Amino acid sequence: MTIESSTNARCHQDVIRLEHVSFDYQDQSVIRDLNFAVQQRDFVGLIGSNGAGKSTLMRMIVGLLKPKSGSIELFGEPIEQFNGWQRIGYVPQKNSFNPLFPATVREVVQSGVYGKRNVARRIQKEDIQKCSDAMDVMRITDLASKRIGQLSGGQQQRVFLARALINNPELLILDEPTVGIDIETQHDFFQLVQHMHQHHRMTFLMVSHDMDMIEAYLGQEPVQQSGKLKFYVKHSHEIENCEASNLSHTLTVRETVSFKGDERN
Ligand SMILES: [Zn+2]
Ligand SMILES: [Zn+2]
Repeated sequence: MTIESSTNARCHQDVIRLEHVSFDYQDQSVIRDLNFAVQQRDFVGLIGSNGAGKSTLMRMIVGLLKPKSGSIELFGEPIEQFNGWQRIGYVPQKNSFNPLFPATVREVVQSGVYGKRNVARRIQKEDIQKCSDAMDVMRITDLASKRIGQLSGGQQQRVFLARALINNPELLILDEPTVGIDIETQHDFFQLVQHMHQHHRMTFLMVSHDMDMIEAYLGQEPVQQSGKLKFYVKHSHEIENCEASNLSHTLTVRETVSFKGDERN
């Protein structure tokens, strides 16, 4: 398949561009000759069976793994030269955190605001407000002073999502973001990402096994299939922008697409 196979007109800059990317793991070919591009304001859902290379691909895109061959560009620059990492948020797949890690939940979330600014700059009132807001949305306010390592995997995942969101990245890369998270928080989270995609110009690349969510928002047909990887894409373009800057407003606006979680009441 070619990069042009996407059904959307390519009206913006590519934020991720993969050309002929291959990756082997212990002599097994995991990803072979993958060509794919994510443009600004795309929401890309990536589906694939175990061992299809989903997490490997995410890790290559954020520079943690090197492809065996092929090239990766981020925001138009070869990844080797790219230094705009503050434009990208990445939440890896849930894994258990060292229980002795000394930071509290509030500190971990707050560390997200350093991204775009000088590290030496002191935390300001508006940062504290942002942090409380994000913790509220991810329902972790009551855990604020707990050590991150004391939390369950699902709770940790919510902390890292809150951390990624307060930095307001242009591109948010999420690897199975809702695994281990209760249905209500999942529902709020999907509502939030949808709103950020449609009204705040945020671009998403999300690995998921949740076909209901993928199909409800991104449609029934993948725009591209490469090996065992299937890419679903929805482009958001003409929808009016929203000026609100806190995250909790995303829970008060009603989006058109509903997910499974909407059926509770
Ligand atoms: Zn567009
Ligand atoms: Zn908004």
